[in-house]
Formats: sequence, structure tokens, C-alpha cells
Amino acid sequence: MTTSAQLFEKACRHIPGGVNSPVRAFKGLERPPVFMERAQGAYLFDVEGKRYVDYVGSWGPMITGHADPEVLGAVRERLDNGLSFGTPTAIETSMADLICEMIPSIEMVRMVNSGTEATMSAIRLARGYTGRDKIVKFEGNYHGHSDSLLVKAGSGALTHGEPSSPGVPAALAEHTVTLPYNDPEAVEACFEEIGDRVACIIVEPVAGNMNCIPPQPGFLETLRRVCDRHESVLIFDEVMTGFRVAMGGAQAHYGVQPDLTCLGKIVGGGMPVGAFGGRRGIMENISPLGPIYQAGTLAGNPLAMAAGIALLEKLRAPGFHDALAQRVETLCHGLQERADAAGIDMITQRAGGMFGVFFTGQSRVDNFAQATACNGDAFRRFFAAMLEHGVYMAPSAFEAGFMSSAHAPEDIQLTLDAAEAAFATLHE
Ligand code: PLP
Repeated sequence: MTTSAQLFEKACRHIPGGVNSPVRAFKGLERPPVFMERAQGAYLFDVEGKRYVDYVGSWGPMITGHADPEVLGAVRERLDNGLSFGTPTAIETSMADLICEMIPSIEMVRMVNSGTEATMSAIRLARGYTGRDKIVKFEGNYHGHSDSLLVKAGSGALTHGEPSSPGVPAALAEHTVTLPYNDPEAVEACFEEIGDRVACIIVEPVAGNMNCIPPQPGFLETLRRVCDRHESVLIFDEVMTGFRVAMGGAQAHYGVQPDLTCLGKIVGGGMPVGAFGGRRGIMENISPLGPIYQAGTLAGNPLAMAAGIALLEKLRAPGFHDALAQRVETLCHGLQERADAAGIDMITQRAGGMFGVFFTGQSRVDNFAQATACNGDAFRRFFAAMLEHGVYMAPSAFEAGFMSSAHAPEDIQLTLDAAEAAFATLHE
């Protein structure tokens, strides 16, 4: 039998760090990453045959569990027609109609191939539309790896200690203003000074790339107000939160409407898909209607659209998101009870179908400074013990966890039993 360690060694020969995305690398965790063979429902199965209850869900898309038969069936049905035509297809219109129906602030939408493309294109659109260069983002928010956005970013950039990447020209980075998350006064002060030069604010409406940090009441509302006042574009990056925090995303959950929304992950059902859309008056500036250029050879790929539509349709089942949030609540309460019983400083935070575990004595974590002040060593030991007990959490303290509707009560119980054992090791 080939082990993960052997496969990792081989992978490192020709793939930088042995991985095609840095957060998969388990860097800093003192062990090689686990190579997976297959996945089904709530479970991942590694190359050595071990089963894990999975809370990564391919980093978000697998909201109904892995290898969902309806999603696979939709792809299978179209497969023999061919993989890609480079022409318009009717299924792209079906996808656009569905997105606009589910997220009412989106009046027009363009499909792309990743979340990174979605945010990059939305930023260009906001700049072209306003004729301004400056953009405002928040410390620890991650919006993919395009140049303007890799400044004080979260996710893998943060995990690997490079929130602001070398290779981003200083002349470009200087147009990106970074403010603390959940700090409305900082936003007001910034706009007081440079508001009339700001093309857009881009924000994760629930931050999921520095663990899980929901917006404090009034934060998103302040963003809306200053953008209105200064005619800047408000962009919600709902790549992670879209269709997860609620059917209509975080904007539906918190009742604040952006001008543009970026989507990814769930919208592709596990295929490489992203989308950006919003107010018609802004979207009409995109090529070929308007002068702002954006394109993609495989954008709107029919198989990817089939997977995404099949998944989105499943989320319409009555009570889907309430039941998902209930599962998250059960998990978080159970973890808290066990941590308290073991005398471990730990809290959880959650929003709909996503959650985070913080090793801290604080009662809340609201921003990057507080997230990075948590106990990294406790996280590493917790992660290792959970993995040992067959629970696959994100291999970084700066990533949110994702629940799926395939997680049954016994899976959550297994997780809580594993956590009890893991907490016991933290005192050793
Ligand atoms: N925006 C957010 C909020 C994300 O979480 C991510 C990825 O995790 C991205 C953008 C980038 O998406 P992708 O990895 O598909 O390029």
C-alpha cells in the first residue's frame, strides 16, 4: 500500500511544495498532508483506507456532502454531448436566471472559472465604472490571489506568513487601502479623507479566511452608507458565504445589499466556477455591452453549469439552511461543553453553515489582531488529535469549518467524542 507520506515525497519532486494550493500543504503542522482517494457524503477516505468525517468540504462547495448523486447525475447526463463548445449554451442562461432569482441584488451576472477571477473582475469593473483607482479591503479577508487583493490577506497567505505577497508591484499595492475588520469608525475616517477617490469596498460579509468572524451589528450597514455617500461601489465577496450562510447569502442573512456580489465554490457544485454580478447599471459596462474587458475560454462551461444548477436546486428544499445551521449549533455547543469540562480556553463562532474554533480566553474574536493572537500551539495539537480520531478539520487556524447536510447526528457525535479526547491531550 502506498502511504500519504510516500505520495507526498513523490509529489514534491515536480509540484512546488507537493500541492497545487498552499493551504493543502499542512505546513507548520509537522506532518505530511493526507492524500485522499475518494469521498462520499460526510466522509473522506484516504489512500490508506482510513475514513474521516470532513469539515472542509473541498473548502466550501460540498454543502450537500461529497459525490452527491444528483450533482453527479446532472454531469453524467451532459457528458456525452461534449465538454466545451466556446459558444453560448442554453444552460448558461438557466444558471444566470437561477442566480438572479436566488440573490435579488444581482440583476446581471457573468460566469468565470474561480473565485479569484470573480473578485479580480469585479474590482476592474468597479474601477472602470467609477474612474477611480483606490480600493478598500479588510485585514485578514482573502479575495483570491490577484495582485490588488494580495495585500494583508487571510487564508493560505496568512497561514504561510505572507499576507502581502512579494511579486505584487508596490505601485499597484499602494492603491489598496487595508482597514481593520469590524471597525466602522476606521471606515468612516478613511472615507472622510479619501472617499472621493475610492472605487470600491470589497469585504467578506462573514470573514471565513481568518477563521470564522461574523460582522458586528452596524459594520456592513456602515459600508453601505459610506459607499452611498461617496458613490463608491460596495462589493460583497460571497465566494464562501453565498448559498451557505443563507440561500441568498450573507446579504440576505444580514439584510444589507451590495452593488456587486462575487460567487464561487457552491455555485459550481465542486467544478471550477465563479461568478460576479449585481446592479444592471454597473454590469452593463462589461464587454461586449461596455468598454470594460473581461473574458474566459471555459467560462460558463456546460458540465460545470450542470453541476452547479443541480446543487443550487437542492438547496431550495424547505428548511435546508435552518437545518444546516442547527447542525452547526449542535456541533459548536457540544465542542464548547467539552472544552469547558476539560478546562481549555476555547470558543466557537458561527454563521449559518460555517463555523470556527478559536483557542482563546476572550469571549469573542472580531478581527485579524484578535484571530492571530489565539493559541497556535493548542490548535496544532487539537488538529493532530482530531485527525488521528478520524475527523478532518481545516489544516490551519485561519480557515472556517463547513457543515454539510450529509453530516448525520452520529457524525457530529463522533466529532464530539474525538474533541473530548483531543482536549484531554492539550494538557499533556
Ligand atoms: N474569496 C473568498 C472569500 C474565498 O474564500 C476564496 C477562496 O477560498 C476566494 C475568493 C478565491 O476563490 P478561488 O480559490 O476559487 O480562486
